[in-house]
Amino acid sequence: MILRNVRVLDGRGERFEGASLRFDPESGRVDAVGDADPGGDEPVYDLSGKTVVPGLVDAHVHFSLSGEATVADVMAMNDAELLLTEVGNARKTLESGVTGVRAMGARDLDVVLAQYVARGEVAGPRMTANCRSITITGGHGHHLGQEVDGPTECRRAVREQVKRGAEFIKVMATGGVTTPGTDPDSAAFTDEEMAALVDEAHRRGVHVAAHAHGAAGARAAVEAGVDTIEHGTFLDEETIDLLVAEDVVLVPTLSAPYHIVRNADHATDDALQKTNDVYERHLESFAAAVEAGVDIVGGTDAGTPFNYHGTNATELSFMVEYGMDPHDALVAMTGRAAEVVGLEDAGVLEPGAFADFLVLDDDPLEDIGAVRDPRTVVKGGEVVAGDAFGVGELSG
Ligand SMILES: [Zn+2]
Repeated sequence: MILRNVRVLDGRGERFEGASLRFDPESGRVDAVGDADPGGDEPVYDLSGKTVVPGLVDAHVHFSLSGEATVADVMAMNDAELLLTEVGNARKTLESGVTGVRAMGARDLDVVLAQYVARGEVAGPRMTANCRSITITGGHGHHLGQEVDGPTECRRAVREQVKRGAEFIKVMATGGVTTPGTDPDSAAFTDEEMAALVDEAHRRGVHVAAHAHGAAGARAAVEAGVDTIEHGTFLDEETIDLLVAEDVVLVPTLSAPYHIVRNADHATDDALQKTNDVYERHLESFAAAVEAGVDIVGGTDAGTPFNYHGTNATELSFMVEYGMDPHDALVAMTGRAAEVVGLEDAGVLEPGAFADFLVLDDDPLEDIGAVRDPRTVVKGGEVVAGDAFGVGELSG
């Protein structure tokens, strides 16, 4: 099948004008980008004026959370209720144009969901999933996480999760905004614990994502060798330089504090107070990281308070508003994100890659908001939302 006369942004930073995108609905893969002559009775759709971009890859989502003000509702659910909630959130996410995610697990459900999605039995984006966050006793996310103390328990937790199917490890390197009684600013683990977590994960061949707000916690995580820093709210110059020097990726999740601040009336006092304190600093940290050339990947923290699944593309608008070049932002939430989270052949439009893409009415390099409202969402060569190229003439 060929889409003709389209602008293609390939997820690696290349732009093709008046191009063709050829893909095979059978294999679900891209055959060609640029020129393509139709063969036999191959369908050809003329989509003049439209732009095709890879489906978004969101490096930080919580399918277990649905934007509730507190995690109490989630804690009250049994596993069946929680898994069905996750199934609904995965579908919403896919239909909005997100075709790949790194899912931050709750209990051990996300690794199960990932298997069903991979087999095509449940609608959802391609997933790399973990079991549950690893946190210190009483630390951020302990309600749904795995509490550990001491290097031996850290190693054991990593081994247990990998045994149960975790494809990465998430650690809570500082306190958090949504967990009462935890401090977002100070380092949670001892250096020995953090080193044990990272060493064990890397021995098992999985990467480590570190939730970190404060600079001290972020620095300790980077020094221990984590692969991605999540949030990076209070980054100082020293920490930003260290991110660059150690090639550690920052997933800024600008959507998360934005939605709490915008819904101030409904947020819990504890969450709101912490968020107001951090929001401005978060934006400054992000802008400084962009300026310094930190490797940035798009992630939303979708599911956190008022940060609803299916609004993921708004993150791109924030990234652009606070200093990122629109094409860089798009790459950060497609090709680069897929590479960092380990979704092979996803996030790019090139021969052999998955035919996961969005048809947009407007050029996102002119207005990044165009990605929020895709005309068509395709995953694996199949239309999963929107119209089936209905604007074009079937000329094949
Ligand atoms: Zn999160």
